[in-house]
Amino acid sequence: MTSKPKIAIIGAGMGGLTAAATLLRAGFDAEIFEQASRFTRLGAGIQMSPNAIKVLRTFGLEEPMRQIAFRPPGQFSREWDTGELLLDVPFGDSVEQRYGAPYLLMHRGDLHALLTQAVPQEHIHRSKELVGLDDSGSSVRMTFADGTTAEADAVIGADGVHSTVRTWLLGEEKPTYTGRVAYRTTFPARLLNGVEIDDCTKWWGPDRHIVIYFTTRNRDEVYFVTSVPEPDWTEESWSMKGDLGELRRAFNGFHPQVRAVLEACPEVHKWAINVREPLPRWCEGRVVLVGDACHPMTPYMAQGAATSMEDAMVLTRCLLDIGPDGDIGEAFKRYERTRKKRTSKIQFHSHENKWLHRNANTDWVYGYDATTVPLASSSELSNSAA
Ligand SMILES: Cc1cc2nc3c(=O)[nH]c(=O)nc-3n(C[C@H](O)[C@H](O)[C@H](O)COP(=O)(O)OP(=O)(O)OC[C@H]3O[C@@H](n4cnc5c(N)ncnc54)[C@H](O)[C@@H]3O)c2cc1C
Repeated sequence: MTSKPKIAIIGAGMGGLTAAATLLRAGFDAEIFEQASRFTRLGAGIQMSPNAIKVLRTFGLEEPMRQIAFRPPGQFSREWDTGELLLDVPFGDSVEQRYGAPYLLMHRGDLHALLTQAVPQEHIHRSKELVGLDDSGSSVRMTFADGTTAEADAVIGADGVHSTVRTWLLGEEKPTYTGRVAYRTTFPARLLNGVEIDDCTKWWGPDRHIVIYFTTRNRDEVYFVTSVPEPDWTEESWSMKGDLGELRRAFNGFHPQVRAVLEACPEVHKWAINVREPLPRWCEGRVVLVGDACHPMTPYMAQGAATSMEDAMVLTRCLLDIGPDGDIGEAFKRYERTRKKRTSKIQFHSHENKWLHRNANTDWVYGYDATTVPLASSSELSNSAA
């Protein structure tokens, strides 16, 4: 192989689109295969911390994000009923000065649309559900549910928490349901009928919480996401509607601000919170995983998408480093060695759900720069093989 390898990416989500953008920018031939036929703007917000934005700015997304996203002055941590202020985490200028990038809140659909625009449309193949993989040692053959096939020099599984690529690597094993659900939705702020709410607050109850923030620069859209115990719930789908009465009852007794938001919201979706223990490995031969496929986490630190973007950048750097005729499998192992300790630590702390409760040590998360972080050395690689 004398030209840069042809890389297939399974999944056009947060990690897959970022991987395509960074690989294409680095001169690789990258193609995405996505099972969905189209993308819809379903009600969900997303927090993009400085560590994510340092990746997204490399392919020009920072300015368009700033144009539409809300840049909150900070995040409050509050007691669920009295509203007592437990912590005031400064974002705004202060986070930019400290970490060299902003903290932005936005609609997930708007971020997804920007990521999609960052990849030339002819590189995104929709209605391509991966059902089979065959790594011959010199290339990988993919089979899709529509009966078509495609071939690439390597495959990146960016296919989320229920990853088919993960199953191919490690065998069938369902993620673990935490027994908790996230209700979430976005709605026009005018539905609050003049009730004033904080810019961005996490309300901490004894066994549940709710995070509420604006998702647009001009504060005209509100978002909330909860974590509520529902141990017996088994359904899981993006389009699963939640019961508003059930949701409001779950937050009975919470502060009037919370209740006003829940009263105002016209509909809500419900999402099972799933996790996995850190996986034994992320790659095999010419196949590798990124994002939720290899390190799904609870959403409590708002780092799932951010870490998938970090993965994409580090993986691209590892592939660039081996040169056109290098060993792709070695590049994938190096990527795993560079990333796993960090993502395992974030998985652990996210699950613990103490992040930004009463303590604001954010440096180790927001200070990470995937564009410059040292890649694992070859001695670390041989140690891991021993
Ligand atoms: C309630 C909630 C709130 C969150 N809030 C935040 C936040 O504020 N900040 C943050 O950083 N993270 C947040 N996250 C986490 C974040 O959403 C995920 O970690 C992130 O989407 C993972 O990106 P990914 O690319 O790995 O997977 P996804 O974005 O899930 O993308 C996977 C893609 O693969 C496709 N796919 C799946 N199987 C196949 C197949 N067989 N063939 C082809 N395509 C396939 C899917 O259709 C999908 O498009 C939150 C998560 C939840 C549940």
